[in-house]
Amino acid sequence: MKYPGRMLGEVLAHLGAKPNTIKYPYEPAVVQAGLRGKIKFFAEKCIGCKICEKDCPSDAITVNKLGDKRFECIFDLDKCIYCAQCVDSCPKKALTVTNEFELAQLDRHKLRFIFHAPDAPPAPAAQPEPPAAKTA
Ligand code: SF4
Ligand code: SF4
Repeated sequence: MKYPGRMLGEVLAHLGAKPNTIKYPYEPAVVQAGLRGKIKFFAEKCIGCKICEKDCPSDAITVNKLGDKRFECIFDLDKCIYCAQCVDSCPKKALTVTNEFELAQLDRHKLRFIFHAPDAPPAPAAQPEPPAAKTA
């Protein structure tokens, strides 16, 4: 080492200084605005056009029809590159990015997320007919 004294000075100068690093994961991370995290699907807005499926560069989305105006969206996040192309492509704003980024898993199957609209509520029960008025 050519100038050990210079290095020692730097070390001593920083001994009592506040660290420049953060303590994540022991403290919550500060998420920057615009972070593209886990995709969220709003089933009630989806029209099943499959544009998101076609535009996804990673083949990470599958949209299936479940019934009349009911669709499910399957995300394979182990394939997702978080480009948000699907969000930009969706004509109904049925997809959005969240700031959820802690998605690491040892089992890739746990990165499959299936979203679908809840079943339609049952139709209200038919009301009994009022009794016919008696005639004399
Ligand atoms: S963020 Fe990109 S890679 Fe991920 S599902 Fe959407 S289009 Fe596909
Ligand atoms: S692009 Fe939007 S509306 Fe079309 S299938 Fe995908 S989520 Fe549904």
